[in-house]
Amino acid sequence: MDFLAFQQFEPQERKASPSCIWCGDSARKNRAHLISRKLSTGARNAPTLQFNVCEGCNARCGDLEQWVLRFTPLSWVRFMLYLRPGSKGTTRAVPSCFFSGAMNEWVVFHLDGASHSYAVATQLLLSPESNHTLLTEEAPESYPLLSSRIVAALRNKAFRTEIRESLPAGFSPRFLLEGEHILLVARTTSEAEASIEHASGVDWATPTATHICLKNTGREQHHFRWSRVNWARFCAKTAFEALCLFEGGEKCLRPGFALVRDFVTGGEIQSGREVVFDEKGPRSARDVPTPVFLDLTVRQAAPQPIAAVLPHAEAGMHVVNLYEVRGWVLASVVVAGFPPSVLVLGGPDEHLGDFYQMIYDYQKCTFEFARLAYDRSKPIVPMAIPGDSFSDIAETYRLKSV
Ligand SMILES: [Zn+2]
Repeated sequence: MDFLAFQQFEPQERKASPSCIWCGDSARKNRAHLISRKLSTGARNAPTLQFNVCEGCNARCGDLEQWVLRFTPLSWVRFMLYLRPGSKGTTRAVPSCFFSGAMNEWVVFHLDGASHSYAVATQLLLSPESNHTLLTEEAPESYPLLSSRIVAALRNKAFRTEIRESLPAGFSPRFLLEGEHILLVARTTSEAEASIEHASGVDWATPTATHICLKNTGREQHHFRWSRVNWARFCAKTAFEALCLFEGGEKCLRPGFALVRDFVTGGEIQSGREVVFDEKGPRSARDVPTPVFLDLTVRQAAPQPIAAVLPHAEAGMHVVNLYEVRGWVLASVVVAGFPPSVLVLGGPDEHLGDFYQMIYDYQKCTFEFARLAYDRSKPIVPMAIPGDSFSDIAETYRLKSV
């Protein structure tokens, strides 16, 4: 392993050309966060662009971030690592359930931001074996009202049905209260139909209500969504805004970066596919979010393999490396310690003035910025560069190992 010498510095956004780096229109004063505030809560020096991103493009990037933060496994990581105690919000967009030993039944829940604890959704189990139990965290005096709402929805057929074959075996069909809406959740259509038929014949005057004090047996399952394209766009957005911060907006508006601009802000957000995690993580190989390698250059002719410098990142850390390899501008991006994205942003004849690194450590709540060391009077931070990438990087920057 070879090492290169880096030094910390404080990047400053350049105001020279107040044009939006995404659409080229003039950008009014605004504030675009390179890393979503939701993933850097409490950071004292979160990097932002105030002059180089217009409101419209910032909103489009915001929608993309919102998708990633609501539906992917990052939604849970956010609640576990980045949320301040007392913050509002839940992981309601991710259907989750745990197996309760006391109930001998799967229980639908979400993570509550304020208390960092499992919150059980109000649900009425429909299978005959479950004794038509109403599970809820509401106070006992509200049981009759909750039951009557659900029973009325059953009579009037005023509910939505959600079939999810990926639910765990043994999951009883049930009605779920989702705010104003009532949802019938089941593993299969036939289970849903059978449970409705059975429920229609039950006298619901007195459903059994159980106040929740359910212990998790350690068995749990989460139904996230994953889209490689959305994830790559999310990473490319941060990388490109980092390029603007480090080298200015005019650089980003060069024709050689047209595909990056289009890729991030053009097109619809994909709905993605379901990935299921159990208590040990991804349930099978197809549920594992994989690293991304993407050539976003205009001609998409970057050499493969290319000397990518993969950041070393602990769980929860964000790292962006921005560097040049013989005329190709590359970004390696790690968000929250997830598998890295390597993006070729420009080339074959784009250049960078330096090798830049941005790191966010969530335990210190601080962003740190580094570039190659030129000043002998300041402390040096060595960065490990894998052997097969080193000669390409060193040659590009005319450097020697330290
Ligand atoms: Zn714009």
